[in-house]
Amino acid sequence: MKALVYNGARDVVVKDVPDARVERPTDVLVHVTTTNICGSDLHMYEGRTDLEPGRVLGHENLGEVVEVGSAVDRIKVGDMVCIPFNISCGHCKNCETGLTAFCLTLNPDAAGAAYGFAGMGPYNGGQAELLRVPYGDFNCLRLPPDAKEKQNDYVMLADIFPTGWHCTELSGMRPGDSVVVYGAGPVGQMAAYSAMIKGASQVFVVDRHPDRLRLAESIGAIAIDDSKGSPVDQVLEQTRGEGADRGCECVGYQAHDPQGTEHPNMTMNNLIKSVRPTGGIGVVGIFLPQDPGAPDAMAKKGEIPFDMGLFWFKGQKIGTGQANVKAYNRQLRNLIHTGRATPSFVVSHELPLEQAPEGYRNFDTREEGWTKVVLHPNG
Ligand code: NAD
Ligand code: ZN
Repeated sequence: MKALVYNGARDVVVKDVPDARVERPTDVLVHVTTTNICGSDLHMYEGRTDLEPGRVLGHENLGEVVEVGSAVDRIKVGDMVCIPFNISCGHCKNCETGLTAFCLTLNPDAAGAAYGFAGMGPYNGGQAELLRVPYGDFNCLRLPPDAKEKQNDYVMLADIFPTGWHCTELSGMRPGDSVVVYGAGPVGQMAAYSAMIKGASQVFVVDRHPDRLRLAESIGAIAIDDSKGSPVDQVLEQTRGEGADRGCECVGYQAHDPQGTEHPNMTMNNLIKSVRPTGGIGVVGIFLPQDPGAPDAMAKKGEIPFDMGLFWFKGQKIGTGQANVKAYNRQLRNLIHTGRATPSFVVSHELPLEQAPEGYRNFDTREEGWTKVVLHPNG
């Protein structure tokens, strides 16, 4: 089959690899029709992980079931399914309580398991013609009959729509709250969109890319351009000096600072300052346990300092981690089906698999207008 394979830093190629196949009785095999490039793929693409060359990338996948193992009895051949990026057993202490991002069976070290991801198990991704889904009955979300016509919406259920929603949940957001989102990439857009759907009174979105800020405005958010002055001051000015009720961190490791360099603690300190005392902060941007290419010795070890004193003094709360996609994807699927959510507004480009390297290049350098790339491996 054709697949997008990691070769090394900023080097991905489309080539023939052995077909994905049913390997265990609980596996499901999916013919991938839609698969996205994610900001999380960039951690590997930019070479800051130890991902081995040869791995197929892609954890945001949707397609048609073409084969099921002998122990699969609910998912059927012909079903259109969206596949949560977390791979989970469904039966461990964490999975049983909905914390499927932290499956203890597949990766007891904490990080959970995922497709095409460094440090999250040996699984290949779905930027390919075929994808093997372990524990397929548990790890497939069946889609309604409009699956094919709305696949650019439903594919967002694999990761970024539930992740954005999760970020608002981690922040403790309630209807009527004001919310500040740092990062107007696809994840930040989904956090802002989720906050809107949940009845936020005001949503601020901070970034410096005009195209991404305009996109946030198109869903009703207030754009904060941090190249025009302190984002903290801009948020405080618009919230009577108090700060927003909730904050969402949707940037992660590659945060730019005012000098235009990158340092991963930028957004945490800005969030603490632009959220009101006793407010809550959700962090879904990824901070890696180690990064040999990081800007200083502490960051190289994955130690990202932030202003603990101010955080404590303001009595704020914080929630972090990968999104437990299954905790939300059924309800969000239903919002899409009934027309109450159209997360495909983030899609800027639809490409055939062969053009995936171009998609990676442009998304990585945040070229004007490249917000979310959707690939169609099977035409
Ligand atoms: P992205 O790189 O496209 O978007 C990040 C955005 O943040 C960019 O537009 C950038 O300009 C902006 N930014 C950089 N520095 C900033 C700063 N100091 N202040 C405000 N904005 C700043 O990536 P994405 O696809 O939107 O993903 C964002 C993060 O979410 C990544 O770290 C990704 O790995 C992570 N992620 C986490 C989960 C999860 O389950 N927790 C799931 C998906 C993605
Ligand atoms: Zn993703």
